[in-house]
Amino acid sequence: MKDKGLLIVFTGASGVGKGTIMKKLLELDKTCKLSVSATTRQPRPGEIDGREYFFLTKEEFEKEISNDGFFEYAKYCDNYYGTPKSAVEKMLNEGFNVFLEIEVQGGLQVMEKYPECISIFVLPPSMEELEKRLRGRATETEEVINKRLNAALTEINFAEKYSYSVVNDDVDTAVKEILDIISKNR
Ligand code: 5GP
Repeated sequence: MKDKGLLIVFTGASGVGKGTIMKKLLELDKTCKLSVSATTRQPRPGEIDGREYFFLTKEEFEKEISNDGFFEYAKYCDNYYGTPKSAVEKMLNEGFNVFLEIEVQGGLQVMEKYPECISIFVLPPSMEELEKRLRGRATETEEVINKRLNAALTEINFAEKYSYSVVNDDVDTAVKEILDIISKNR
């Protein structure tokens, strides 16, 4: 039987580049997998149901909450986001290192429930740079961008609760740092 994989809580402000880091990391290390979350937000152009997220209605999401289907879930900027429980447990049991790309409230829930997890907080080089990246993405309205920037300011206060923090100035360097963290804990 394979050893159980590591569970990695991967948090950072919207726009900080978590998605880009994850994409490179998954290409480089085939022992790592990203958990696909469920959300009630609308898909962005190019996002596919079941690949980036499982896109659910509020009613469907709340039904899953009452069925105890989530490992963790939270409300972030007016939408629900949650990690489906069964998929994560299956991947861990198969020996994969599973990344949960989730915001702070969910991250803290996982640390409480699963203290052996590894937690990594991704920081922007500066708040100005974060705002530039978030605006540069041009997928959100001004109102949503402002909500996300406010959320980022609150979230950064929780970075110290995480076991590691990584500054995403250069993506390749950030990926290397994260791979080092994983091999150190394996
Ligand atoms: P976005 O709408 O930009 O895809 O995600 C918004 C925020 O929700 C990001 O910080 C993202 O990491 C977080 N998020 C995505 N999936 C989950 C999840 O399953 N649970 C929690 N708690 N947060 C999530």
